[in-house]
Amino acid sequence: MKLEKSLELYTKGKKNLVGAVNSPVRAFKSVGGIPIFIDRAKGSKIIDVDGNEYIDLVLSYGPMILGHRNSTVEKAVKKALKKGTTFGASTVGEIKLAKIVCDAFPGMDKVRFVSSGTEAVFSAIRLARAFTGKNKIIKFAGCYHGHADDMLVAAGSGLVTLSIPGSKGVPPEAVANTLVAVYNDIDSVEQHLAKHNDIAAVIIEPIAGNMGVVNPTQEFIEELRDLTKASGVLLIIDEVMTGFRSKFGGAQELLGVEADITCLGKVVGGGFPVGAYGARNEIMEMVSPLGDMYQAGTLSGNPIAMACGIATLTELKKQNPYAAFEKTASFLERALLNAAKENGIDLQVNRFGSMISPFFTKEKVVDFKTALTSDTNKFKTFFWKMMENGVFLPPSQFEAWFLGTAMSKRDIYKVRKAIDIAMKAVAKKSKLTIEN
Ligand SMILES: *Cc1c(COP(=O)(O)O)cnc(C)c1O
Repeated sequence: MKLEKSLELYTKGKKNLVGAVNSPVRAFKSVGGIPIFIDRAKGSKIIDVDGNEYIDLVLSYGPMILGHRNSTVEKAVKKALKKGTTFGASTVGEIKLAKIVCDAFPGMDKVRFVSSGTEAVFSAIRLARAFTGKNKIIKFAGCYHGHADDMLVAAGSGLVTLSIPGSKGVPPEAVANTLVAVYNDIDSVEQHLAKHNDIAAVIIEPIAGNMGVVNPTQEFIEELRDLTKASGVLLIIDEVMTGFRSKFGGAQELLGVEADITCLGKVVGGGFPVGAYGARNEIMEMVSPLGDMYQAGTLSGNPIAMACGIATLTELKKQNPYAAFEKTASFLERALLNAAKENGIDLQVNRFGSMISPFFTKEKVVDFKTALTSDTNKFKTFFWKMMENGVFLPPSQFEAWFLGTAMSKRDIYKVRKAIDIAMKAVAKKSKLTIEN
């Protein structure tokens, strides 16, 4: 596999960019490589500057659910572009996208658009604090909610991958109001609630995707809803990754729970920087200009981004790919498990809708602790073999693979073939390691 041009760009890029990247997971550090530089993409395929073509299971970590350069979406973006790029005043696109979003999430009467998932979450937390007059937030170990100071505690993939427990530069006071509970363990939430009387909200990834895919049990998520309601604590469901992905109405539709505040990002912008947070009227009326919780953004509701979001969501609703995703994910799960078994490798596969993660461990993965039992060296070997065989995966054991609607049957078979080859390589490497 040739990566000469990527290497050249990496060397050049390092001079004025930090590690030649603008987001750490792109550095490929945990799989022992250099960042690959992408030239272009179309449909299910992504092509790097060396001309290597891959089936894309990263999909920009979620947003490109329709594949790259979907023609309807591209047309809508081009049309919007011709009218100008940003005005510092309202446009009709914002109203249209707001309606699509509020219709999809019954708990949302109103929504506010921002420019990233991080911004959506920290605004939602400010709103929960404003509404309840309380300060503490419970989060779950292994869940990632963006890089705001008070959410950078036990925050999943990016940090685990780089082996940093939290982050430098976060003052202790900034995390003093963050309490950490255990995913799928309602007692751990109850204990915090019993001990503290100033809890504003619990925030959760309804299907965790940032420690690899970890599903909640139905019982856990329902108990969490009941418990927060009974305690007068808001439930913030962070659907930045899951929104429009496992069902059009996100994990909430699938699990049958309703958030007090919902956070969105990724798919909602279809590849442009869009985040959103929304809730029922009573809560959203706290937000400026209706209320006294301040939150603003120069490029919030950007017209090009809105056009891309509207076209993406409209097309997604029309295609209704959720049953097909389920089928593909189930096929890949079997392919992974069979290949692992044939080669004597311990493997767990967690999946939910269009998100899937293989974990190289024999322990059932139900929370952060069990996710961390994975053998990241095995993943590293697996990852590079997949790349060599034309499949672009997130370069971390602790990220979900994303399925999109542009994947063909042929693509799916090609992925299975790559899995067979990669799993053999993992077995061979483990054997060598043991013999040495
Ligand atoms: C990606 C992600 C975020 C952060 O979104 P950015 O757009 O990267 O700031 C927050 N929460 C979850 C669940 C995410 O997956």
